[in-house]
Amino acid sequence: MPDRVLGGGVKTRVGIVGAGPAGLLLSHLLHLDGIDSVVIESRSRQEIEATIRAGVLEQGTVDLLKSAGVGERMQREGFVHEGIYLRFGGRTHRIDFPSLTGGRSIMVYAQHEVIKDLVAARLAAGGKILFEVKDAAVYDLDTQAPKIRFHHQGTVQELECDFIAGCDGFHGITRPSIPSRARHEFTRVYPFGWFGILVEAPPSTDELIYAHHERGFALVSTRSPQIQRLYLQCDPDDELRNWPDSRIWDELHARLATGEGWKLAEGRIFQKGIIAMRSFVVEPMRYGRLFLAGDAAHIVPPTGAKGLNLAAADVRVLSKALAAFYSSGDEEALKGYSAKALKRVWRAEHFSWWMTSMLHRFHDESAFHHRLQLSELEYVASSRAKAQTLAENYVGLPLD
Ligand SMILES: Cc1cc2nc3c(=O)[nH]c(=O)nc-3n(C[C@H](O)[C@H](O)[C@H](O)COP(=O)(O)OP(=O)(O)OC[C@H]3O[C@@H](n4cnc5c(N)ncnc54)[C@H](O)[C@@H]3O)c2cc1C
Repeated sequence: MPDRVLGGGVKTRVGIVGAGPAGLLLSHLLHLDGIDSVVIESRSRQEIEATIRAGVLEQGTVDLLKSAGVGERMQREGFVHEGIYLRFGGRTHRIDFPSLTGGRSIMVYAQHEVIKDLVAARLAAGGKILFEVKDAAVYDLDTQAPKIRFHHQGTVQELECDFIAGCDGFHGITRPSIPSRARHEFTRVYPFGWFGILVEAPPSTDELIYAHHERGFALVSTRSPQIQRLYLQCDPDDELRNWPDSRIWDELHARLATGEGWKLAEGRIFQKGIIAMRSFVVEPMRYGRLFLAGDAAHIVPPTGAKGLNLAAADVRVLSKALAAFYSSGDEEALKGYSAKALKRVWRAEHFSWWMTSMLHRFHDESAFHHRLQLSELEYVASSRAKAQTLAENYVGLPLD
């Protein structure tokens, strides 16, 4: 069927590109403030609800989802973790969050479950999410009527908006639509990646284990009482075919070894993948009437478990600024969005970089560097002040 442009186009107050956590939560928060939005997404509903990514929610993210009325299933099915374990030199040290942060903790609840809850809430409220759109483009960004044009179900559609939210992740189209002279990008690419597996097995631990080892970093995480998530530091250019199951288990056992009687529960590996590690920030997070949020504006290595949480924090600030604009015409909060969001972003960038640097083996690692890492880990394990720094960043600094 030939494409056709819909006559007259469609109008909405906020056009949102991307139905990840940032786009869906923004649409939901705006709805709670009576602000109409349309979300466009390049993938199918089934696909976004099945993509396994993050799993650690900061206290502030949990509170935000609860107060927005989308936390009911999370509270029922998620797992509150009150600490993490650091394992190095074959010994394990626990960082206790509540005693170090005035009672705060984290929730382990998978990102795709958050997505399912948000999609269900938006659709139940009559919200508009257009799945499987193609060739989205944004333009007229520096006018009062920015537009999104895209293909959907065989037609070319145009959405005229008051504002556009670029929530389309790191590889999306909104950030590159900002003229290069108007964006300043900061990047660090790490010389390693994470080999991640999903395993059918009972949990090996009640809380996440972050392991520093001469052979490289390892992480024991969980998704449910039946499904476990395990990661190994690897070469970012490595290939899955180089990692038969036996090699994965050998490596995990070696890196997680301890004389403390702990055992890693093995099981059927049903998913394998390699993710690259990168730190990235674009400044500012606004151009004209386009506002960037989430991974579209910044990336952190997953060691600090901050990506999803930053996306939630961004859209909380953005939704409040848009609500202030629509209730009083006041643009001050919108003008301050980028600076306010970036303050939190850079804190999370630093924390994620610090955790990554402390726990991974670097190609050029000398015995000197290795000793420095061990000294820092000893310091975290023995100093309340240093442990508190880790804990308060991990559970997330207060949103306001
Ligand atoms: C393996 C892994 C583990 C992680 N672990 C954690 C963790 O424990 N804790 C944590 O906080 N974070 C973690 N993260 C990071 C977290 O998953 C991301 O930061 C989070 O998904 C960001 O949400 P977002 O909505 O900004 O972007 P995304 O989730 O990337 O969503 C963007 C959406 O936009 C859509 N899109 C892209 N281009 C277009 C287009 N042109 N048109 C229309 N739609 C488009 C995409 O299909 C996608 O659905 C992890 C990430 C990975 C990969």
